[in-house]
Amino acid sequence: MEKKENLGTKILRALGFFKMSDYEKSFHRDANVRSTVYMASIIIVLETWMIVRYLNKYIFSGKYEFTFESFFTYTKSYWMLLTMGIIMLVYSLLYLGDKIRRSKKLSLFLTLIFTGICMYFGWTVSANDYSKGKMILCFLTMVLYAACLLIWRPYISFLMLWAIGNAYIIYLDKFVPLKDGTLGMNEGDKINFATFYISMITVVISIYHQRHSEAVKSEKLVIASVTDELTGIPNVKGFTDKAFEQLKTINKENLVYLFINIENFKLYNDSLGFMKGNELLINLSKEISEQFKGDSYARLSNDHFTILTDKPDYLDRINKLQEAIGKDTPDELYLTLKVGAYRPKGELEDPRLEIDRARYACTTIGHQADKFYAEYDEKMAEDFKLRNYIINNVDKAVREGYIKVYYQPVVWSEDKKLCGCEALARWIDPKYGFLSPGVFIPVLEESRQIDKLDLCIYETVCRDLRERLDKGEKIFPVSLNFSRLDFELMDAIGELERLVEKYGIPREYLHVEITESALTDDTIGLKKSMDILHEKGYSLWLDDFGSGYSSLNVLKDFNFDVLKIDMVFLKNFGDPDYEENTENTKKIICTVIDLADNLGMKTLTEGVENDACVEFLSMVGCDRLQGYYYSKPVPIDDIYKMISEGKFEISDVIE
Ligand code: C2E
Ligand code: MG
Ligand code: MG
Repeated sequence: MEKKENLGTKILRALGFFKMSDYEKSFHRDANVRSTVYMASIIIVLETWMIVRYLNKYIFSGKYEFTFESFFTYTKSYWMLLTMGIIMLVYSLLYLGDKIRRSKKLSLFLTLIFTGICMYFGWTVSANDYSKGKMILCFLTMVLYAACLLIWRPYISFLMLWAIGNAYIIYLDKFVPLKDGTLGMNEGDKINFATFYISMITVVISIYHQRHSEAVKSEKLVIASVTDELTGIPNVKGFTDKAFEQLKTINKENLVYLFINIENFKLYNDSLGFMKGNELLINLSKEISEQFKGDSYARLSNDHFTILTDKPDYLDRINKLQEAIGKDTPDELYLTLKVGAYRPKGELEDPRLEIDRARYACTTIGHQADKFYAEYDEKMAEDFKLRNYIINNVDKAVREGYIKVYYQPVVWSEDKKLCGCEALARWIDPKYGFLSPGVFIPVLEESRQIDKLDLCIYETVCRDLRERLDKGEKIFPVSLNFSRLDFELMDAIGELERLVEKYGIPREYLHVEITESALTDDTIGLKKSMDILHEKGYSLWLDDFGSGYSSLNVLKDFNFDVLKIDMVFLKNFGDPDYEENTENTKKIICTVIDLADNLGMKTLTEGVENDACVEFLSMVGCDRLQGYYYSKPVPIDDIYKMISEGKFEISDVIE
C-alpha cells in the first residue's frame, strides 16, 4: 500500500524534491535532448535570418560601407547563438542516434552553456530595447527557451526564473536609463512582467510533472517487459540486457552460464497445488538473487532458471539453493535441482545461445538420481551441433528426400505369415550419414516439427502401397507411428484422409500406432481423435506398452485394437545367465496377454530376437511377432525381395 503524504511532503514533491531512479533521470535527460533538437534548429534558422537581415538592411542596401569590424560588432551575439545552436543540434543528434556515449556530465555542461548564452543574449538585447522604450520581449523569449523548453526540476526552474526575473527588473529599474535619461521602470510594466513570470512558473511545474509521470509509467512498462511476473526476478529479456552489461566487466576466466531445472516440480505442483508451487518458485528466486548478487539471472519459464556468474564457488551456492527448496518440501516429494553449465570459449556470443548450451548439458543428466550437475563438453558440443542441424534442416531433408521409410515385418505367430510391416523413419543425410530415429525424433518433437517428418512418412507409405497395387500385386497393412504432437501441430486425421483419398488406399491397410507415454496427461482431445480414427475404419495400436508409467490407466480410457508389448520385456530372454529374469518375463507377458484378451484386444510383442522368444510367444497365444529374428527394418525393395524369394508369405488375414 502507498503511504499517505502530508502537505509539506506534497509541496516538496511538487517542487521536485524527490529521489529519481536512474531510468527516470535518463528519461528526463533524453526528453530534454529531444527538445534541444527543435530549439537548436529554430535558433539556427532565426539567427541566420537575423544575420541575413542585417546584411540586407545595412550592407546590401548601400547605407553603410562593409567592414568586418562593424559587421562583427553588430552581429556577434547572433553568431554566438548560431554557433551554440549548431553545436547543440549536432550533439543532440549524435546523442539520440547513439553515436556517442550518453554522458550525463557533457549534456548538463552543454545545457548550462546554452542557458547562459540565451540569458546573456536576451539580457543585452532587451536592455538595449528597453532603453529605446520598447518591450523586453527578447529577454522573455530567451527565458522561455532556457527555463521552459528545457525542463528542469521545478525548484530549479523556480529559482532560475525568480532570480533572473527579479535581477533583470532591478537592473532595468536602477541602471538602464530611458531615452530621456531618466531611470525607473513603469509600475504597470513591473506588474505585467511579474504576472508573466508567475504564469511561466506554473506552466513549467505542470509540464515537469506531466513529463515525470510519463517517465514513471514508461519505467513501469520497461520493468514489466524485463521482469518475471511471478517471482519478480528478471525474465529472459532482462537477463540478456543485464548479461550484455555484465560481460563488459566480468572476469572472463571464471565465466559460466548455468541452467537450472527443478526436477519433480510437476509432481510437487500436482500434489500440493499451484499456490504452493508458486511459493516455491518465489523462494528459490529470492535465494538465487541472494546467492548470485551482482550476477545476471532469470526465470526462463516454469521451473527453469538461468544464471551468468564468475563466482568460483558457484557450486556451493547452488547447494544453498538446493537447501532452500529442500526446507519447504515433504520428503516424499523429493525435489532436486539439475544444473547444466557452459563455459564459453573464445569470442563471446549472444547470451541466449550460451544458455541453450547450458540447457542442453542439463538435459543430458536426465533422471539420473545420483547426478545433479553436467558441464557442456566436446561430445555434447557435437551432439548439440547435430541437434541444431536437425532443427534447421528438417524441411530440406523432407524436400530433398533424405527422409526414408524403412519397413519392419510383423508376422502372425500362428502361421508366421506376414501380417504387415511397421513404417520406421530414417534420415540419410549427405553430411551426417545415417541418422536413427532415436536421435532425430526427440529433437523434432522438442522443436515441434515432428508433423513435417510424419506427414512425409505417411505419404511415402501410401505411395509405396499405390505403386504395388498398380502393378497388380498383393499388399500388406502398414502401421504408422503417430506422435502425440501430430494431433496438435497439424490436422492429423484430415491429412491422413487426404492421402488415403489421393492414393486410393483402403483404410484397413493403415494402422495407427501411438506410444503409451504420449497418453499420460491431457488426454481428452487425443481420445476424441482416436475415436474419430476408429470410426473411420483405422485399426488403433498401443505402442511400447509397459515402458511408461501409467499403462493400465491408458487401457481404461482408450479403445485400442492391438497392444504392442514393449521390447524391454524380451531383453535377455532365453539367456541362461538371466534365467530368473526370463521366468518373470514369462509371467508378465502371460498376464498382459490375458488382460488384453479380457479387454478384447489383440497382442503383438516387439523385440523378438531368438527361437526362445518365438516359441514362448507362440505357445502363450501372442497374436503377432515383430523383431530382428524376422528382419530388421529395411527399404521397401528388400521387403519385396524377401517376399519374392519366399522368406515371407503375405497373409490373407487383414486386420
Ligand atoms: P517403435 O515404434 O517402438 O519402433 C520399434 C523400434 O524397435 C524400432 O527402432 C525398431 O528398429 C526396433 N526394433 C524392432 N525389432 C527389434 C529387435 O528385435 N531388437 C531391437 N533391439 N530393436 C528392435 P527405431 O526404428 O530406431 O525406432 C525407434 C522409435 O522411433 C520407434 O519406436 C518410434 O517410437 C520412433 N519412430 C520411428 N519412426 C517414426 C516415425 O516415422 N514417426 C514417429 N513419430 N516416430 C517414429
Ligand atoms: Mg512403433
Ligand atoms: Mg514400439
